[in-house]
Amino acid sequence: MPIRKDDTPPNRRFGIVNLVLIGFGVLLLVSSFLPNQGMQQVPRVPYSLFVSQVDDGSVRRAYITQEQIRYELKEAPAEGAPSVLATTPIFDMDLPKRLEEHGVEFAAAPPQKPSFITTALSWIVPPLIFILVLQFFARRSMGGAQGALSFTKSKAKVYVPDEESRVTFADVAGVDEAKQELTEIVDFLKTPERYTAIGARIPKGVLLVGPPGTGKTLLSKAVAGEAGVPFFIISGSEFVELFVGAGAARVRDLFEEAKKKAPCIIFIDELDAIGKSRAGSMGVVGGNDEREQTLNQLLTEMDGFAAKDKPVIVLAATNQPETLDAALLRPGRFDRQVLVDRPDLSGRKTILDIYARKVKLAPGVDLDKLAQATSGFSGADLANLVNEAALLAARSKRTSVEQGDLNEAIERVVAGLEKKSRVLQPDEKKVVAYHEVGHAIVGHLMPGGSKVAKISIVPRGMAALGYTLQLPTEERFLNSKEDLEGQIATLLGGRSAEEIVFGAVTTGAANDLQRATDIAEQMVGTYGMSEVLGPLAYDKQGGSRFLGGGNNPRRVVSDATAQAIDKEVRTLVDRAHERALSILRHNRDLMESISHQILEKEVIEGDDLKNLLASSVMPEEAVAIV
Ligand code: ADP
Ligand code: MG
Ligand code: ZN
Repeated sequence: MPIRKDDTPPNRRFGIVNLVLIGFGVLLLVSSFLPNQGMQQVPRVPYSLFVSQVDDGSVRRAYITQEQIRYELKEAPAEGAPSVLATTPIFDMDLPKRLEEHGVEFAAAPPQKPSFITTALSWIVPPLIFILVLQFFARRSMGGAQGALSFTKSKAKVYVPDEESRVTFADVAGVDEAKQELTEIVDFLKTPERYTAIGARIPKGVLLVGPPGTGKTLLSKAVAGEAGVPFFIISGSEFVELFVGAGAARVRDLFEEAKKKAPCIIFIDELDAIGKSRAGSMGVVGGNDEREQTLNQLLTEMDGFAAKDKPVIVLAATNQPETLDAALLRPGRFDRQVLVDRPDLSGRKTILDIYARKVKLAPGVDLDKLAQATSGFSGADLANLVNEAALLAARSKRTSVEQGDLNEAIERVVAGLEKKSRVLQPDEKKVVAYHEVGHAIVGHLMPGGSKVAKISIVPRGMAALGYTLQLPTEERFLNSKEDLEGQIATLLGGRSAEEIVFGAVTTGAANDLQRATDIAEQMVGTYGMSEVLGPLAYDKQGGSRFLGGGNNPRRVVSDATAQAIDKEVRTLVDRAHERALSILRHNRDLMESISHQILEKEVIEGDDLKNLLASSVMPEEAVAIV
């Protein structure tokens, strides 16, 4: 779609005002550099000399001003020497008396009259500046398209869909429910009369809610593309500026422009940047007023426009719906909310189909398998995955993308790009090997419906020195308590292996511990899985459901309960640790043999791994630790 930036001519009025100001400035400068008439340079002497000359009676007359005393000697002290001298006056009350005593003729200068220009300037300039500043602010808060400066203009980009490049619903996959809801919106935009004739109220605001990269922006473009109407896109953060009032003016400007192009769509991305709950943000210093004003303006605008047959529909996207101000969600505003979630298995398949069509695939590539291996990927991740695979194929000078490229691309997307340059010391490598094998063996024996697919000690990404890849064998939406305990034990498997083999722990397990503790905390605080504490949610809802939770504020609990929670979390993690230790001690020989193999090959996967892990046994005592 072509992008048109809104560009009205720069404000002329402001230009004139500027000119006038500059003119005055120049005048001021010039007048201050003008030489003071009648003040030619005369040699300066110390005051003491002047006094002694007066006392000597050698001074004929003196002319006293604020800045200097000029005096004329009765005769020049030497041939060619000046007979007129000057000195700087000091506060001397006796001077007139002294001069009189020695018969010096003296006069003082009349108080200096300021020049006409100076007077005029000092009277005119300050009020002028004052008026200008006032006017500037007044205009800014009046806003509108003719605001005083460009920062009151909305920075919205306007897309006008044209035939070749428009996005349609066919370009979005895996979010069928959202599509269905939005089809209705397209209908409103295309034939508003049908709805208004019956007296139905056309919805004004639709809020797309979902994690990043799931296609919210894409969907709203598709709505515009399907309806064939202009599409204004702006990010919530673009409203919020340093200057109080700028955001509100931009909102006004945006809606004004949109009304001219109605029927059309306004899309506000990252609505949470302006729509944060006002109650929740109390006490935050700075920026608050501005956001509140912007939000109020948005609410006013949404309440305001009601053109019957020329609808302006506001779409907005957020991944933190729970932080939004309740006022935004009231009827007549964003009363419709559409969930755009991560795609499920079949959704991932259709998204992969879309992007696979854009690259040359080798025959026999199995997209179903790929879809299975990418549980939890968003649409953007999948698009990225296919592109990575194509890059890999191109780099190795192949003409089509093969399954191997896609598999490697998965790992790249999951674990970040391979870091060939990072070399581990041999002893470090050994620790990493045992650590990863520890994860793999415990992970293999734990319940939870994932199988260990790969162990690698090739460093990847920023932090991971090695990794163990677990793939789910089936799509799961619910985890049982046992699954979660298994996950904790698996996470602790790495550290446990280090403890058993080296009798010491390294910093390599920090991320594992973080995740294990998070899971344990959620089990107790969010899922009510503790027998001691019962089915109560000690964490307040409010942490993001989409972004993986964590950091939820705790409900107000008694000290005793808080202690009990901490103790219970600790018990869960300790128990999982015991379990991992017991499993690994019991499978010590297996751990040794796999570790030796991986130190040689760096990567073990597929059937090799399956066969190796098949000989692991679950010790009785580890089952008992529950
Ligand atoms: P969001 O706005 O939800 O963060 P975007 O719409 O910006 O996500 O998605 C980024 C890119 O990822 C899109 O341009 C598109 O290429 C791809 N994408 C994301 N979700 C989907 C989907 N459901 N179907 C097809 N492509 C998708
Ligand atoms: Mg987006
Ligand atoms: Zn680990």
